[in-house]
Amino acid sequence: MTIDRRNFLKLAGRTAGVAAVATTAGVAEARPNKKMPEEAVGLLYDGTLCIGCRACIPACKEANNMPPELTPLKVNGEQVEALWDAPLDISGKTLNIIKAYRDGTGEHKDQAKDGFAYTKQSCFHCVDPSCVSCCPVSAMTKDPINGIVSYSEDACIGCRYCVAACPFGVPRFTYDTPKPKISKCQLCKHRLADGKYSACAEVCPTGATVFGKVKDLKAEIERRKSLAPGTTTTFPRGRIGGGDTYTGQVGKYVERVYGEHEIGGTQVLHLSGVPFELLDKPELPDIAPASTSETIQHGIYYGLLAPATFLGILVAAARRNMRPEDEKPKAPPEGGTP
Ligand code: SF4
Ligand code: SF4
Ligand code: SF4
Repeated sequence: MTIDRRNFLKLAGRTAGVAAVATTAGVAEARPNKKMPEEAVGLLYDGTLCIGCRACIPACKEANNMPPELTPLKVNGEQVEALWDAPLDISGKTLNIIKAYRDGTGEHKDQAKDGFAYTKQSCFHCVDPSCVSCCPVSAMTKDPINGIVSYSEDACIGCRYCVAACPFGVPRFTYDTPKPKISKCQLCKHRLADGKYSACAEVCPTGATVFGKVKDLKAEIERRKSLAPGTTTTFPRGRIGGGDTYTGQVGKYVERVYGEHEIGGTQVLHLSGVPFELLDKPELPDIAPASTSETIQHGIYYGLLAPATFLGILVAAARRNMRPEDEKPKAPPEGGTP
């Protein structure tokens, strides 16, 4: 068999078949989603408590040394130079943003029709993160104790796989800097050592964003959902167990807690008074993409079965293509060595 394009494609097809058989025959069993670390920390964002003050945005910038984002403005139809930090989305300069939903007259808070609502966008600190799974150099890592998903600028090679893999569209690449890097919320982990916590939660006046252990955040969610909408109660403000509170009314929540099950669960959980699809939160399966992609990869490379098969076929084909005289030892040139 000669190795022309047609035969090469045939060989590649057979090898892919071997890989597929290896995978589907269960050579590598589909692994389950990873488990939440016992001491995992995160955030609870309750959109019904959020007043849209956006204090959490500059607080996040200050705590993380991020530059302002001077979004260009139009005044009387004319483009003018922006004078203040006015980010419209998360970016290389903004790790946290509060966005608004509005419908019709926009009169009623947390109402889908003729209402408005707020939502927060920042890293969800997934329990089984795609960004960690796809990173070829372990620049993205998940802490085994507190579950925080971190980024190492020194290890990063700039491939941007994490940008493509994150189902929430969180990691951003700083194209406009001399030394580009990935930008994403790291849950203010640098503040934890000093006994501090997430700046966005610390500054939030109503406890709409609150920091804590995920198990405590979940218990607080249960408590809020067990109370009748409109009940006056005290909400933890800043961090759960920190002693600071805010008194307000319990919202009329939609059933779903966003982040509870999505792609195997996340450490940042959201409550809302309007359906999450109105807030641009993606509809995601319970199974973590990382578990599926790693199963396929491990299936293909299980025992190096597919690569070894491919190499074997190539070697066999190469041997067949050798002319008989190529295999005979050559006679040394006269008066010299072979
Ligand atoms: S600081 Fe709190 S209330 Fe203000 S926008 Fe942020 S989450 Fe909402
Ligand atoms: S939200 Fe995206 S960037 Fe954050 S941990 Fe999950 S996959 Fe990674
Ligand atoms: S935890 Fe820290 S880095 Fe993350 S959004 Fe809040 S303030 Fe920003």
